[in-house]
Amino acid sequence: MSNKTNHTAVKSLNIFQILKMLWNARKLHSHEKWSREKIKKHQEKKLRKLRDYAYAHSPFYKRFHQGLENHPLHELPVLTKQELMRSWDEIVTDKSLHLKDVEQFLNNLKGFELYNNKYVAFATGGTTGVKGITIYNKEEWLNIFSQSARLTKWIGIKFSLGKKLRFAAVQSKLPWHIAGAASFIKFPFTKTLPLDVTEPMEQQINELNEFRPDNFGGFAGNIHLLALEQIKGSLKISPKTVTTTAETLKKEAREDIEKAWGFKPFEAYGSTEIGEAAAECAQHKGLHIFEDVIILEIVDNDNQPVPPGKTGSKVLATVLWNYTLPFIRYELSDHIKLSPDPCPCGRPFQLIQEIQGREENVIYLPGEGGEKVRIEPDILFDNLVLLPIDGWQVVQEKEDTITFLILVPHDNFNEKEFLKKMNDEFVKRGAKSPNLKVEYIKELRHTKLGKTITIQALKKSE
Ligand SMILES: [Zn+2]
Repeated sequence: MSNKTNHTAVKSLNIFQILKMLWNARKLHSHEKWSREKIKKHQEKKLRKLRDYAYAHSPFYKRFHQGLENHPLHELPVLTKQELMRSWDEIVTDKSLHLKDVEQFLNNLKGFELYNNKYVAFATGGTTGVKGITIYNKEEWLNIFSQSARLTKWIGIKFSLGKKLRFAAVQSKLPWHIAGAASFIKFPFTKTLPLDVTEPMEQQINELNEFRPDNFGGFAGNIHLLALEQIKGSLKISPKTVTTTAETLKKEAREDIEKAWGFKPFEAYGSTEIGEAAAECAQHKGLHIFEDVIILEIVDNDNQPVPPGKTGSKVLATVLWNYTLPFIRYELSDHIKLSPDPCPCGRPFQLIQEIQGREENVIYLPGEGGEKVRIEPDILFDNLVLLPIDGWQVVQEKEDTITFLILVPHDNFNEKEFLKKMNDEFVKRGAKSPNLKVEYIKELRHTKLGKTITIQALKKSE
């Protein structure tokens, strides 16, 4: 069992970790001069190593890929999040790790803490509504920082020893959320202001005005709202760069951000499970997939490859650096369209032309004064993901009516308490108390196309 005394609170990276991170980032940078052939070779080598390790240390993969050990990646079975959670204890390559203990650890987390002094763990609700728990060791965790360091280089952020750069991140401050963990870690060359998208807009504006960030980033939908505030004049900051994550950056959002601050934003794509997976370069022609650390297959509903120029129904991700909890053909429900053209910047990594759809997850409720109140998917995610249930979906039935579909509640799930909490969350943001109800389900609902929808908002008329 996990035990409080086993966990060390980590507040800043030590010098060895920083050097390792910088070394990794340099190595990643050198890959950007490679040819496509060299990238393919590198992927094959890394994948072989990962698969051999998984077959030797993960009872699940040994069984799941039995007889297919030497088959190419596209012939291997797909790993869904449901399967990941069902077989978690057998997928991890360290037998001492158990899902129940890690979940309990996350439930009690107050800041950034290591699990058993060795591991970094996060929870995710993601796009499928089934809770996911992901884990990596300390070394692997540094990879995520190195990938972020790559991103800062692409954006053109220059660090100096003299003056600390001021970063503001508007995302999540919850310690079990990957975006939240960053707010508990100190870096030597930067000063960071962590903000939470669930904080009232006015508070975000005040804190940002006071902090005056040089660089500014966070969840796309919220950054868009802040751009509108800058245009109106209530927000008065002059950052040099803006980076957006988590949700799709809509065309209007791009235009408003450019209007607000005079330059184009950088969109990044990734998730808790797969880390940073793609980002825009300064050409703004699309997002380059970090193909030296991850393989993304863009496929249709039957897991068949979708060619560039056409939008896929899902993504199968194979993470080349996580040996603790290997992800091999892990299903993500993002709709991605690859670009048929290479990028003028010359980097060999394939370009994503478009990522569709997470704005569909934003619910608008009628407000006290007749206005529309925006409910970020994260507000639902934050409140639902650690509940004692197996999964969830949220359906906005009418403008002011929301049904929570709860998958297999455990004995300690308290419906009344949950509904009250949700009501408070909505009212706190200015919504008129909506009609809320709970419905219990044995299986997640699917659309006609077989897709599971976590948050189904009413279709927006405008
Ligand atoms: Zn490029």
